[in-house]
Amino acid sequence: MTGMNRAVSPVYLSDISERDKPWDIHRAQAEAVEALYGVLGYQRYQERMGACSGRLQFALISDGDDGVVPHLQSAFFCRVRTCPVCQWRRALMWRARFYKAIPEYLNEHHGRRPVFLTLTVRNCAISELRQTVDQMNTAFKRMSQRKNWPGVAWVKSLEVTRGADGSAHPHFHVLMFVKPGYFQGKNYIKQAAWRELWRSCLRVDYLPVVNVKTVKSKTPTGDTLADIRVAILETLKYGVKPDDLTHDAEWLGELTRQLHKTRAVAVGGELRPYLREDEPEDLVHDEDLESEMAATEDDPRLVFDWMTTVKRYAQKLAN
Ligand SMILES: [Zn+2]
Repeated sequence: MTGMNRAVSPVYLSDISERDKPWDIHRAQAEAVEALYGVLGYQRYQERMGACSGRLQFALISDGDDGVVPHLQSAFFCRVRTCPVCQWRRALMWRARFYKAIPEYLNEHHGRRPVFLTLTVRNCAISELRQTVDQMNTAFKRMSQRKNWPGVAWVKSLEVTRGADGSAHPHFHVLMFVKPGYFQGKNYIKQAAWRELWRSCLRVDYLPVVNVKTVKSKTPTGDTLADIRVAILETLKYGVKPDDLTHDAEWLGELTRQLHKTRAVAVGGELRPYLREDEPEDLVHDEDLESEMAATEDDPRLVFDWMTTVKRYAQKLAN
Protein backbone atom coordinates (compact mmCIF):
# COMPACT_ATOMS: atom_id res chain seq x y z
CA MET A 1 0.00 0.00 0.00
CA THR A 2 1.31 3.42 -0.85
CA GLY A 3 1.27 6.33 1.50
CA MET A 4 -1.28 8.08 -0.69
CA ASN A 5 -4.15 5.87 0.38
CA ARG A 6 -3.69 6.80 3.98
CA ALA A 7 -4.42 10.41 3.20
CA VAL A 8 -8.06 9.50 2.50
CA SER A 9 -10.00 11.07 5.32
CA PRO A 10 -12.54 8.89 7.07
CA VAL A 11 -16.26 9.17 6.47
CA TYR A 12 -18.09 9.90 9.69
CA LEU A 13 -21.63 8.77 10.38
CA SER A 14 -22.63 12.16 11.78
CA ASP A 15 -21.52 13.84 8.55
CA ILE A 16 -23.64 11.72 6.26
CA SER A 17 -26.80 11.29 8.34
CA GLU A 18 -28.48 14.08 10.24
CA ARG A 19 -30.70 11.79 12.25
CA ASP A 20 -27.78 9.62 13.34
CA LYS A 21 -25.92 12.52 14.92
CA PRO A 22 -26.94 11.53 18.48
CA TRP A 23 -24.86 8.35 18.21
CA ASP A 24 -21.56 10.20 18.72
CA ILE A 25 -22.89 12.13 21.69
CA HIS A 26 -24.41 9.16 23.47
CA ARG A 27 -21.51 6.82 22.80
CA ALA A 28 -19.10 9.40 24.24
CA GLN A 29 -21.32 9.73 27.31
CA ALA A 30 -21.37 5.94 27.66
CA GLU A 31 -17.58 5.96 27.67
CA ALA A 32 -17.59 8.44 30.55
CA VAL A 33 -20.05 6.31 32.56
CA GLU A 34 -18.06 3.18 31.75
CA ALA A 35 -14.89 4.84 33.10
CA LEU A 36 -16.68 5.66 36.37
CA TYR A 37 -17.77 2.04 36.74
CA GLY A 38 -14.08 1.23 36.39
CA VAL A 39 -13.26 3.64 39.24
CA LEU A 40 -16.00 2.03 41.37
CA GLY A 41 -14.75 -1.47 40.63
CA TYR A 42 -18.04 -2.42 38.92
CA GLN A 43 -16.15 -4.58 36.47
CA ARG A 44 -19.10 -6.35 34.89
CA TYR A 45 -20.91 -3.10 34.08
CA GLN A 46 -17.68 -1.61 32.79
CA GLU A 47 -17.13 -4.56 30.45
CA ARG A 48 -20.70 -4.66 29.18
CA MET A 49 -20.78 -0.95 28.47
CA GLY A 50 -17.36 -1.13 26.86
CA ALA A 51 -18.79 -3.58 24.34
CA CYS A 52 -21.98 -1.56 23.75
CA SER A 53 -22.62 -0.31 20.21
CA GLY A 54 -18.99 -0.40 19.13
CA ARG A 55 -19.95 -1.36 15.62
CA LEU A 56 -23.09 -0.24 13.79
CA GLN A 57 -24.28 -1.89 10.61
CA PHE A 58 -26.64 0.04 8.42
CA ALA A 59 -28.46 -0.66 5.18
CA LEU A 60 -28.91 2.19 2.75
CA ILE A 61 -32.57 2.28 1.86
CA SER A 62 -34.25 4.55 -0.67
CA ASP A 63 -36.27 7.30 0.97
CA GLY A 64 -38.88 7.18 -1.77
CA ASP A 65 -37.55 10.27 -3.52
CA ASP A 66 -34.04 10.52 -4.89
CA GLY A 67 -32.10 9.94 -1.73
CA VAL A 68 -31.10 7.05 0.46
CA VAL A 69 -31.27 6.88 4.23
CA PRO A 70 -29.13 4.67 6.47
CA HIS A 71 -31.21 2.31 8.60
CA LEU A 72 -29.62 0.45 11.48
CA GLN A 73 -29.58 -3.30 10.83
CA SER A 74 -27.51 -4.62 13.67
CA ALA A 75 -25.54 -3.60 16.71
CA PHE A 76 -24.78 -5.01 20.15
CA PHE A 77 -26.42 -3.17 23.04
CA CYS A 78 -25.31 -3.71 26.65
CA ARG A 79 -28.75 -2.96 28.18
CA VAL A 80 -27.22 -1.56 31.36
CA ARG A 81 -29.92 0.65 32.91
CA THR A 82 -27.60 3.65 33.14
CA CYS A 83 -25.98 3.29 29.71
CA PRO A 84 -26.61 6.56 27.83
CA VAL A 85 -26.77 4.77 24.47
CA CYS A 86 -29.24 2.18 25.72
CA GLN A 87 -31.33 4.81 27.57
CA TRP A 88 -31.61 6.74 24.32
CA ARG A 89 -32.48 3.66 22.24
CA ARG A 90 -35.05 2.52 24.80
CA ALA A 91 -36.70 5.95 24.77
CA LEU A 92 -36.85 5.84 20.96
CA MET A 93 -38.51 2.43 21.05
CA TRP A 94 -41.00 3.51 23.70
CA ARG A 95 -41.94 6.55 21.65
CA ALA A 96 -42.30 4.46 18.52
CA ARG A 97 -44.66 2.13 20.36
CA PHE A 98 -46.61 5.07 21.68
CA TYR A 99 -46.88 6.88 18.34
CA LYS A 100 -48.26 3.71 16.86
CA ALA A 101 -50.75 3.09 19.66
CA ILE A 102 -52.16 6.57 20.08
CA PRO A 103 -54.07 6.98 16.79
CA GLU A 104 -55.68 3.57 17.34
CA TYR A 105 -56.60 4.48 20.88
CA LEU A 106 -58.07 7.88 19.97
CA ASN A 107 -59.99 6.36 17.08
CA GLU A 108 -61.78 4.04 19.43
CA HIS A 109 -62.13 6.57 22.27
CA HIS A 110 -63.40 9.75 20.72
CA GLY A 111 -62.82 13.07 22.40
CA ARG A 112 -60.14 11.99 24.85
CA ARG A 113 -57.94 14.94 25.73
CA PRO A 114 -54.29 14.76 26.83
CA VAL A 115 -53.05 16.33 30.06
CA PHE A 116 -49.40 16.36 31.08
CA LEU A 117 -48.59 15.99 34.74
CA THR A 118 -45.30 16.20 36.63
CA LEU A 119 -45.41 14.80 40.15
CA THR A 120 -42.49 15.48 42.43
CA VAL A 121 -41.40 14.85 46.00
CA ARG A 122 -38.81 16.54 48.15
CA ASN A 123 -35.26 15.52 47.33
CA CYS A 124 -34.13 12.45 49.19
CA ALA A 125 -30.74 10.99 50.02
CA ILE A 126 -29.53 8.86 47.13
CA SER A 127 -29.38 5.94 49.58
CA GLU A 128 -33.15 6.31 50.09
CA LEU A 129 -34.07 6.49 46.43
CA ARG A 130 -35.60 3.04 46.09
CA GLN A 131 -37.73 3.48 49.17
CA THR A 132 -38.85 6.93 47.98
CA VAL A 133 -39.78 5.64 44.53
CA ASP A 134 -41.75 2.78 46.13
CA GLN A 135 -43.63 5.35 48.18
CA MET A 136 -44.34 7.42 45.05
CA ASN A 137 -45.64 4.37 43.21
CA THR A 138 -47.95 3.52 46.08
CA ALA A 139 -49.15 7.12 46.15
CA PHE A 140 -49.78 7.13 42.42
CA LYS A 141 -51.82 3.97 42.72
CA ARG A 142 -53.87 5.54 45.48
CA MET A 143 -54.38 8.66 43.40
CA SER A 144 -55.54 6.70 40.36
CA GLN A 145 -58.18 5.04 42.55
CA ARG A 146 -59.55 8.28 43.97
CA LYS A 147 -63.04 9.21 42.88
CA ASN A 148 -61.97 12.57 41.47
CA TRP A 149 -58.97 11.19 39.54
CA PRO A 150 -59.75 12.22 35.96
CA GLY A 151 -57.28 10.05 34.02
CA VAL A 152 -58.92 7.27 32.03
CA ALA A 153 -55.60 6.29 30.41
CA TRP A 154 -51.99 7.14 31.17
CA VAL A 155 -48.33 6.43 30.67
CA LYS A 156 -46.01 7.29 33.53
CA SER A 157 -42.25 7.40 33.60
CA LEU A 158 -39.71 7.87 36.35
CA GLU A 159 -36.93 10.40 36.02
CA VAL A 160 -34.22 10.96 38.61
CA THR A 161 -32.09 14.07 38.62
CA ARG A 162 -29.17 14.88 40.86
CA GLY A 163 -29.51 17.68 43.38
CA ALA A 164 -26.57 20.11 43.67
CA ASP A 165 -25.93 18.75 47.16
CA GLY A 166 -25.70 15.15 45.93
CA SER A 167 -29.27 14.29 46.84
CA ALA A 168 -31.70 12.65 44.42
CA HIS A 169 -34.80 14.20 42.91
CA PRO A 170 -37.14 11.47 41.68
CA HIS A 171 -40.25 12.58 39.83
CA PHE A 172 -42.92 11.15 37.58
CA HIS A 173 -43.85 12.41 34.14
CA VAL A 174 -47.39 11.38 33.36
CA LEU A 175 -49.17 11.82 30.08
CA MET A 176 -52.81 11.06 30.74
CA PHE A 177 -56.04 11.22 28.82
CA VAL A 178 -59.23 12.64 30.25
CA LYS A 179 -62.81 12.79 29.07
CA PRO A 180 -63.86 16.16 27.61
CA GLY A 181 -66.14 16.70 30.62
CA TYR A 182 -63.06 17.12 32.79
CA PHE A 183 -62.68 20.69 31.62
CA GLN A 184 -66.19 21.65 32.63
CA GLY A 185 -67.35 22.82 36.00
CA LYS A 186 -66.58 20.91 39.14
CA ASN A 187 -64.66 18.06 37.53
CA TYR A 188 -61.74 20.30 36.71
CA ILE A 189 -58.79 20.10 39.10
CA LYS A 190 -56.80 23.29 39.51
CA GLN A 191 -53.07 23.37 40.14
CA ALA A 192 -53.42 23.94 43.89
CA ALA A 193 -55.90 21.08 44.16
CA TRP A 194 -53.54 18.77 42.27
CA ARG A 195 -50.85 19.51 44.83
CA GLU A 196 -53.21 18.80 47.68
CA LEU A 197 -54.38 15.57 46.02
CA TRP A 198 -50.80 14.35 45.50
CA ARG A 199 -49.85 15.38 49.03
CA SER A 200 -52.68 13.39 50.53
CA CYS A 201 -51.85 10.33 48.41
CA LEU A 202 -48.17 10.58 49.38
CA ARG A 203 -49.25 11.00 53.02
CA VAL A 204 -46.63 13.67 53.65
CA ASP A 205 -46.87 16.84 55.70
CA TYR A 206 -45.46 19.22 53.06
CA LEU A 207 -47.01 20.41 49.83
CA PRO A 208 -45.15 18.75 46.95
CA VAL A 209 -44.58 20.49 43.64
CA VAL A 210 -46.95 19.39 40.89
CA ASN A 211 -47.05 20.74 37.38
CA VAL A 212 -50.11 20.29 35.25
CA LYS A 213 -50.32 21.28 31.64
CA THR A 214 -53.16 20.82 29.24
CA VAL A 215 -51.68 19.67 25.99
CA LYS A 216 -53.38 22.28 23.92
CA SER A 217 -53.19 22.79 20.23
CA LYS A 218 -52.12 26.19 18.98
CA THR A 219 -53.42 25.54 15.49
CA PRO A 220 -57.05 26.34 14.71
CA THR A 221 -57.45 22.92 13.14
CA GLY A 222 -56.34 21.34 16.39
CA ASP A 223 -53.75 18.75 15.47
CA THR A 224 -53.92 16.80 18.71
CA LEU A 225 -51.54 14.09 17.53
CA ALA A 226 -48.72 16.57 16.93
CA ASP A 227 -49.24 17.97 20.42
CA ILE A 228 -49.21 14.53 21.94
CA ARG A 229 -45.94 13.80 20.19
CA VAL A 230 -44.39 16.83 21.86
CA ALA A 231 -45.70 15.77 25.27
CA ILE A 232 -44.44 12.24 24.77
CA LEU A 233 -40.95 13.54 24.11
CA GLU A 234 -41.07 14.89 27.65
CA THR A 235 -42.59 11.76 29.14
CA LEU A 236 -40.51 9.10 27.45
CA LYS A 237 -36.97 10.37 27.49
CA TYR A 238 -33.97 9.21 29.53
CA GLY A 239 -34.44 8.05 33.10
CA VAL A 240 -31.35 9.91 34.30
CA LYS A 241 -29.67 12.78 32.47
CA PRO A 242 -26.24 11.74 31.19
CA ASP A 243 -24.65 14.81 32.85
CA ASP A 244 -26.01 13.67 36.20
CA LEU A 245 -24.62 10.18 35.66
CA THR A 246 -21.06 11.37 35.20
CA HIS A 247 -20.90 14.02 37.90
CA ASP A 248 -19.80 11.84 40.76
CA ALA A 249 -18.76 8.17 40.83
CA GLU A 250 -20.22 7.49 44.28
CA TRP A 251 -23.59 8.90 43.26
CA LEU A 252 -23.60 6.76 40.12
CA GLY A 253 -22.72 3.66 42.11
CA GLU A 254 -25.50 4.21 44.63
CA LEU A 255 -27.99 5.12 41.88
CA THR A 256 -27.16 1.88 40.10
CA ARG A 257 -27.83 -0.14 43.27
CA GLN A 258 -31.00 1.79 44.09
CA LEU A 259 -32.57 1.52 40.63
CA HIS A 260 -31.67 -2.13 40.07
CA LYS A 261 -34.73 -3.94 38.71
CA THR A 262 -37.10 -1.02 39.26
CA ARG A 263 -39.68 -0.15 36.64
CA ALA A 264 -39.06 2.91 34.50
CA VAL A 265 -42.29 3.15 32.50
CA ALA A 266 -45.83 2.08 33.40
CA VAL A 267 -49.02 2.09 31.36
CA GLY A 268 -52.49 2.30 32.87
CA GLY A 269 -56.22 2.46 32.25
CA GLU A 270 -57.68 2.35 28.77
CA LEU A 271 -54.23 2.44 27.17
CA ARG A 272 -53.30 -1.01 28.34
CA PRO A 273 -54.73 -2.97 25.41
CA TYR A 274 -52.98 -0.61 23.00
CA LEU A 275 -49.56 -0.23 24.54
CA ARG A 276 -47.29 -2.96 25.88
CA GLU A 277 -45.65 -2.21 29.16
CA ASP A 278 -42.60 -4.48 29.07
CA GLU A 279 -39.18 -2.97 28.41
CA PRO A 280 -38.42 -2.89 24.68
CA GLU A 281 -36.26 -5.88 23.79
CA ASP A 282 -35.30 -4.86 20.29
CA LEU A 283 -33.17 -1.74 20.46
CA VAL A 284 -32.17 -1.93 16.79
CA HIS A 285 -35.23 -1.30 14.69
CA ASP A 286 -36.66 2.15 14.85
CA GLU A 287 -40.33 1.61 14.09
CA ASP A 288 -41.09 5.28 14.32
CA LEU A 289 -39.34 5.94 11.06
CA GLU A 290 -41.04 4.33 8.10
CA SER A 291 -41.65 0.99 9.71
CA GLU A 292 -42.70 -0.44 6.37
CA MET A 293 -39.26 0.18 4.92
CA ALA A 294 -37.46 -3.10 5.41
CA ALA A 295 -34.01 -3.63 4.00
CA THR A 296 -33.57 -6.12 1.18
CA GLU A 297 -30.47 -8.12 0.27
CA ASP A 298 -29.72 -5.67 -2.51
CA ASP A 299 -29.58 -2.58 -0.35
CA PRO A 300 -25.97 -1.51 0.16
CA ARG A 301 -24.52 -1.96 3.63
CA LEU A 302 -22.43 0.48 5.60
CA VAL A 303 -20.43 -0.36 8.70
CA PHE A 304 -19.32 2.23 11.24
CA ASP A 305 -16.93 1.70 14.12
CA TRP A 306 -16.64 3.82 17.24
CA MET A 307 -13.38 5.72 17.21
CA THR A 308 -12.57 6.53 20.79
CA THR A 309 -9.71 8.86 19.82
CA VAL A 310 -12.00 11.26 17.95
CA LYS A 311 -15.30 10.32 19.68
CA ARG A 312 -17.05 9.67 16.40
CA TYR A 313 -18.31 6.72 14.39
CA ALA A 314 -16.19 6.31 11.27
CA GLN A 315 -16.98 4.16 8.29
CA LYS A 316 -15.13 0.91 8.06
CA LEU A 317 -13.61 0.74 4.63
CA ALA A 318 -13.48 -2.48 2.66
CA ASN A 319 -10.03 -4.07 2.78
ZN1 LIG B 1 -25.50 0.26 26.27
